[in-house]
Amino acid sequence: MSIQRDGLDASTLAVHVGNEPDAATGAVAPPLHLSTTFRHGPAGERVAGYEYQREGNPTNDRLRAALVALEGGEDALTFASGMAAMTTLLESLPGGARVLFPDDCYSGLRMLFEEFLPERGIVATVVDMADLDAVRAACATPLALLWIETPSNPLMKIADIAALAQIGHAAGAIVVVDNTFATPLLQRPLALGADIVMHSTTKYFGGHSDVLGGALVFARKDALAAKVAHRLHVTGAVLAPFSAWLTLRGCRSLGARMAMHCANARKVADFLTSHPAVERVNYPGLASHPGHAVAVRQMRDFGGMLSVELRGGREAALAMAGKLRLFTNATSLGGCESLIEHRASVEGANPRSPQNLLRISVGLEDAGDLIADLAQALG
Ligand SMILES: *Cc1c(COP(=O)(O)O)cnc(C)c1O
Repeated sequence: MSIQRDGLDASTLAVHVGNEPDAATGAVAPPLHLSTTFRHGPAGERVAGYEYQREGNPTNDRLRAALVALEGGEDALTFASGMAAMTTLLESLPGGARVLFPDDCYSGLRMLFEEFLPERGIVATVVDMADLDAVRAACATPLALLWIETPSNPLMKIADIAALAQIGHAAGAIVVVDNTFATPLLQRPLALGADIVMHSTTKYFGGHSDVLGGALVFARKDALAAKVAHRLHVTGAVLAPFSAWLTLRGCRSLGARMAMHCANARKVADFLTSHPAVERVNYPGLASHPGHAVAVRQMRDFGGMLSVELRGGREAALAMAGKLRLFTNATSLGGCESLIEHRASVEGANPRSPQNLLRISVGLEDAGDLIADLAQALG
């Protein structure tokens, strides 16, 4: 799919929007405003639109503008982390609401709906979002919210955003997409009918494994956007200005980085697919992936994330992860460096990921070097 606004490609928008030269000084790199408070008039009149950092700050507003342009929304909010963004949104739902979540998803979201949402009487139903009939069946009763994560973590399942948005809306639900893995450079859920996009900007937006952050982008600047903004500004899980500034810096190279993440991941996926020690590669760019056709329709490219399942079970997976030299064993994703993780080992008492699965965040190293390292580790 093509991703444009005002005739400009998303990679151009990522360089420019929010990163315009400073009007007061001409500084080409955006200024970093650390002030917690802003001068106001004797009766509290705002002088330049700002009052107190928790309620808004010029550096954050630049990042919000970038997010709005990239996702094609009308409003955006930035948060201290991706989890803060999710939590603030889900806490805005009325007690007793019914919500639908994906069976394969970020572990923090699962903890929210298994441990915290039930405390408020919120009824969470889990469904395979790649199975539209299953989703339709689960939508039979009124629904407050339908949560999509595509590609999903760590099985890289693909959910049909346009179809799910229709099903969700017919049941009266708000449709939310966690777009962290794809980024708006590869997939724009609002154009496909979603109401809200959620990001962990900690990942590809930041891009250097050195800044935590989250965001919500709203298709419409409506009562819901205002309600979530009010909750954020009162409860206070806001993004620090320095974090916003680092994330804006990440935006400027997002297009170039995503292009290389995608190119490298495709080569790594092709290599792993051809290796006899490998049972299965989960990467939506592969024609053999069950969601490939939908991915081709709704994504511009297939991203830098994949997972691999080895023939030798848990032992083979741990042995491979232990032998790699260029892939660091670490959680998280979206940085310049390649990371690998045995998800089942870090998922607590009841791991959901297959024991033979390793999740890989393919970085920006030379693809040949990465493949040589994988080859020696697979022996
Ligand atoms: C990391 C991540 C989150 C959580 O974001 P934090 O910034 O770590 O709080 C949510 N969704 C996905 C898909 C993620 O990868």
